Amino acid sequence: MQILLNDSAYEPQKIIGVGRNYDAHIKEMRAVPTGEPVLFIKPPTALSSITETITIPTGFGSVHHEVELAVLISRGGASISEAAAMEHIGGYGLALDLTLRDLQSAAKKKGLPWAVAKGFDGACPISPRFVDKSTVKDVHHLDMALTVNGEVRQRGNTGQMIFRLPFLIAFISRFFTLHAGDVILTGTPSGVGPLRPGDKLSMELEDIGRAETRVAGRE
Ligand code: MG
Repeated sequence: MQILLNDSAYEPQKIIGVGRNYDAHIKEMRAVPTGEPVLFIKPPTALSSITETITIPTGFGSVHHEVELAVLISRGGASISEAAAMEHIGGYGLALDLTLRDLQSAAKKKGLPWAVAKGFDGACPISPRFVDKSTVKDVHHLDMALTVNGEVRQRGNTGQMIFRLPFLIAFISRFFTLHAGDVILTGTPSGVGPLRPGDKLSMELEDIGRAETRVAGRE
């Protein structure tokens, strides 16, 4: 899937997810703060447009919604400094970090990786068009919300992020060279929960946009 920003189309090579970046979500998961970002990767095959019907697998237990601020890298680099990090961002979008929660919980218990739970096909619905970073006054102060069938499930503010964007980009790029088009998912506030086929979803991220869609199941 391509992501549009201004007059350019980007082809993400990887999506880097950040786990445990909001205190209230760490608490609801009964997880332990780690002192540094928890990273995982979703392959480009996880991408789908957040404005189109979201298709979730039905044979592997619960699929949880996690609404997140997504960051599009427009200039690549490795070992990027915190001071230079914001210059590598092109824009911002809205994403869902869909998670096969039962599989993830089983993996955590066994000390196994989250690859399947986080990286399955369609696990990353995302804005097909991002907004230029210059149009966002303060990316660390944006309200976000996710509603399922008219009921607000998630509400948070990017100001609650434990690790902010300059630190995240510096940390991530020590391990993974970032290319133009790569996407960073910055973590979710509390209120995650299961999606079911037929659900109507609406999501909003201040200054960045809103999306409405529905959920369908697949075998
Ligand atoms: Mg997440």
